[in-house]
Amino acid sequence: MTPPSDSAPPEGPRWAQRDSRCVWHPFTPMKQWLTEADEPGRVIQAGEGFELIDSRGRRYIDGFGSLWCNLHGHRVARIDRAVADQLERIAHSTLLGHASIPSIELAERLVSISPEPLAKVFYSDSGAAAVEVALKMAFQYYRNCGQPERRRFLALRGSYHGDTIGAVSLGGIDRFHEVFRPLLFETTFVDSPNPYHHPAGDQAAHAVLRRIAGELEADAGQYCAVIVEPLIQAAGGMLTHAPGFLRGLRELTRRYDVLLIADEVATGFCRTGRMFACEHEGVCPDLMCLGKGLTGGYLPVAATLATQEIFDAFCGEIAEGRTFYHGHTYTGNALGCAAAAASIDLIFESRLLEQLPEKIGLIRERLAELADHPHVGDVRQCGMMVGIELVRQRKRGQAPFRPQGPRGASHERVPVPFSPALQVGAAVCRHARNHGVIIRPLGDVVVLMPAPAMDMTTLNRLLDAVGTTIHEYFL
Ligand code: PMP
Repeated sequence: MTPPSDSAPPEGPRWAQRDSRCVWHPFTPMKQWLTEADEPGRVIQAGEGFELIDSRGRRYIDGFGSLWCNLHGHRVARIDRAVADQLERIAHSTLLGHASIPSIELAERLVSISPEPLAKVFYSDSGAAAVEVALKMAFQYYRNCGQPERRRFLALRGSYHGDTIGAVSLGGIDRFHEVFRPLLFETTFVDSPNPYHHPAGDQAAHAVLRRIAGELEADAGQYCAVIVEPLIQAAGGMLTHAPGFLRGLRELTRRYDVLLIADEVATGFCRTGRMFACEHEGVCPDLMCLGKGLTGGYLPVAATLATQEIFDAFCGEIAEGRTFYHGHTYTGNALGCAAAAASIDLIFESRLLEQLPEKIGLIRERLAELADHPHVGDVRQCGMMVGIELVRQRKRGQAPFRPQGPRGASHERVPVPFSPALQVGAAVCRHARNHGVIIRPLGDVVVLMPAPAMDMTTLNRLLDAVGTTIHEYFL
């Protein structure tokens, strides 16, 4: 954290107090928020490159890509100009019964960069809405195809797909989702194939695929879709999947004629080292959800991409009732689409994808320094996405232990987590502010999600600060 410069205004309007009076924050325990109003970095008033600047002029590295959406940094001239130019023409016009030039230009780009059979772009305005669209499309697709009994979804435990009721129905994080269960439709959940958390360890992918195969074999005719966050379940705690899981899932869904929905809201647009995570395993989903990084982190535009085959099932005479009756007021917003088209162009102009192997390698190298820390249970990385799982006592095979819970064999032993009441992850991330970094935890998993365009020097500073923070916190 750099101190306020002499020219920075004192915090005249007392933004934190004004916020406390009337703003209710998302995913935020508000009682604690109200008692911590003086914490540094609370009110962000500006951004520049890869830094956020708070209302007292202090600068922090944006270590979480402003909640996983920022790609190129803040105040990027190329995107600023695209939005300003669009503002000269029109800020918004509807896509219901009309078309708009920015939405056409963006759709063309999305189709050209996404896996081959994805041919149509349906716009919305958040990741949750993109998932909601995908699940409604999957459901109605089979109705339109004369198979209305296919109405069930399968998802992974620990999944997160957004906060609308349909997306929550597909969500498998009890802490967020359990309270809403009575409102939700029933979904089949199977374990996450994360080797650290699954009892089968390195064999997790095989074990989970076998379980899914069994489920589909028994009941394939009931299912319309399987939804997955490809390669890594982000909000579930950066739960990486063993290689081959996604490809295996694609093979199974094809075999049983069940649609595969890839939720690339978090993983899309370079985060994993490729444009889309599905590319790592040569997988083409039937429906793909995009959000977050779609606009480079500028504006709320999301999209659901569908194959021509799915689209065709929604075309027919009016009386056939095939139309997809779904849409939002700001669907395909012109400013957002202009920002997104500029962001995608910038990915290519700046040769961002070509630079990623070096950055991903640097992160891997630097994280290795943490691997032996007595309170680091696991370090997970998928491209530019990182989760550092903090535990009270570490890995299997090291003392002291407690016996494994109900799912494991009794002689196996697992790491001992911190009591959730201690909020260790949150405390570590708060401490990072003193080292000039803003990051956000998921439980006791410290998450790093730097913008893929972050330069090597800033990336090194971020990793230095995170390492120092963890060492200092547990001194
Ligand atoms: N899907 C995934 C995989 C996500 O990570 C998120 C957000 N963290 C969402 C969907 C929901 O996106 P939004 O917050 O834009 O609704």
